[in-house]
Amino acid sequence: MQGPREEMIPAAKPQLGDEEIAAAVRVLRGGRVVQGPEVAAFEGEFGALVADRSCVAVNSGTSALHLALLALGIGPGDEVVVPSFSFAASANAVRLAGAEPVFAEIDPDTFCLDPDAAAGAVGPRTAALMPVHLYGHPAAMDRLTQLARRHGLAVVEDACQAHAAALDDRPVGAFGDAACFSFYPTKNMQSLEGGMVVVPDQAHARTLRLLRNQGMEQRYENEIVGANMRMTDVAAAVGRVQLTRLAERTERRRAHAAVLDEGLRGLAGLVTPPVAAGARHVYHQYTVRVPGGAEARERVRAGLEAAGVGSAVYYPTPIHRLKPYASLGADLPVTDRAAAEVLSLPVHPALTGDDLVRIVRAARDVTATAEPVPGERPGEPAAAPGTAEVIR
Ligand SMILES: *Cc1c(COP(=O)(O)O)cnc(C)c1O
Repeated sequence: MQGPREEMIPAAKPQLGDEEIAAAVRVLRGGRVVQGPEVAAFEGEFGALVADRSCVAVNSGTSALHLALLALGIGPGDEVVVPSFSFAASANAVRLAGAEPVFAEIDPDTFCLDPDAAAGAVGPRTAALMPVHLYGHPAAMDRLTQLARRHGLAVVEDACQAHAAALDDRPVGAFGDAACFSFYPTKNMQSLEGGMVVVPDQAHARTLRLLRNQGMEQRYENEIVGANMRMTDVAAAVGRVQLTRLAERTERRRAHAAVLDEGLRGLAGLVTPPVAAGARHVYHQYTVRVPGGAEARERVRAGLEAAGVGSAVYYPTPIHRLKPYASLGADLPVTDRAAAEVLSLPVHPALTGDDLVRIVRAARDVTATAEPVPGERPGEPAAAPGTAEVIR
């Protein structure tokens, strides 16, 4: 029923406006483009998001994860418990640090690391847990930090998709021994490319500043082996502008998600994303399940596209099935099922009211013909027992 001239609603839409461009030009004209005063200011301002913890800016979220592990002394001989249902960067950072990922299952409702599965994955070599706040939903940090304390493990939060998310009013990034954010263009805020490591103590912050800059604090007085993972001042200037918009844009994402929840609840062919008690979801993605697997999902995706609604699959292949990790032989049926069922609908801040009406109408149309999957009630989470309600 779409008019042929209606524009496609993109699944994601990075926001980059005149103010960011002006900030970048100001830095370029100033001549000090590498890590300098803009980076320092960005680090200070970002602290407000993470309970005033120390912030160290780097050139990507992946670098943030890599350096966080190095700063915590995690390396060869160590294992890190990671969900397989994430972007490959989560596990890649572990391997780059010289450690081994051990993949654990997710909660089927929140798509985040399942604390019971994480407990089962802990062994004599385990050095850390790396929960991922996937899609902007906070992982069950209360139970995961308890587990870590019980076994003397470090916790590295992968908060790359979860700027300003929270659990029981505590912001993500303020739970772990380190937390990592990404400022890639499609994330909830961006700096072209960029990342931030957040730590509770000055000693680790100093180590991180050394690691990102060849091990130097004073030029040519190299104290340790380090890399060049500095953020540029151009990137930091863009990030600072984006940070001023984050609160408003996050509220727009949350409001859009509420409209989608309302419009899509109870459909036979689609399950809306539940939110755990106490969780503040920031909807980096609004991810539904299409029960019935990848073919049913592809029909929905194609039907939405025909109606002018973009959607995307994050992630079609879980990390444990990617080439570098397949030989570990992890067996993760909850993760496999999520990878076959998830579909992310547009939720970004640029959506209009009309866009939301079109998304809801298109999703209702394409799922109206779907048969309920036997054993599943429409609009309910998939058959595997969810733990969202018992996260706290
Ligand atoms: C984006 C992302 C990363 C990596 O961030 P980059 O800035 O792209 O290096 C890591 N983990 C997750 C979950 C991400 O979404």
